[in-house]
Amino acid sequence: MNGIRGWFRQFSAKLSQGLRAFMAGRYGTDRLNMAILSAGLVASLLSVISPFSSLSMVMFVLSYVLMILAIFRSLSRNTYKRYQENRKFLQIFGRMKDREHRYFDCPKCHQMVRVPKGKGKISITCPRCREKFVKKT
Ligand SMILES: [Zn+2]
Repeated sequence: MNGIRGWFRQFSAKLSQGLRAFMAGRYGTDRLNMAILSAGLVASLLSVISPFSSLSMVMFVLSYVLMILAIFRSLSRNTYKRYQENRKFLQIFGRMKDREHRYFDCPKCHQMVRVPKGKGKISITCPRCREKFVKKT
């Protein structure tokens, strides 16, 4: 009994060591990956409950694509690029949740400018390059 337990302890230690070595320098998971995985889960659920076989097929393929994408991202060694993807995702997600502001890109330097919504046509001054542009909010 003790022998098996000791062997198992050694085995799991080796396994976690190997896993750590395998994941070293790799990106791991982030909010974007969680979102991709959830979307994949929803897609696979839809593929099961959908009464239309064509939709079910599409959802089935989509769920696999999304899950493979999430695995690819978490195992990726290009951590900078993955980090940027996640940042962009969080930015877009934040904009979608923000109902009190509108977001514009400065036509000159592409700085993101946030202005309150529902003020009609206003002149916006870019905080970075001082470029003025008129937008409807
Ligand atoms: Zn600007």
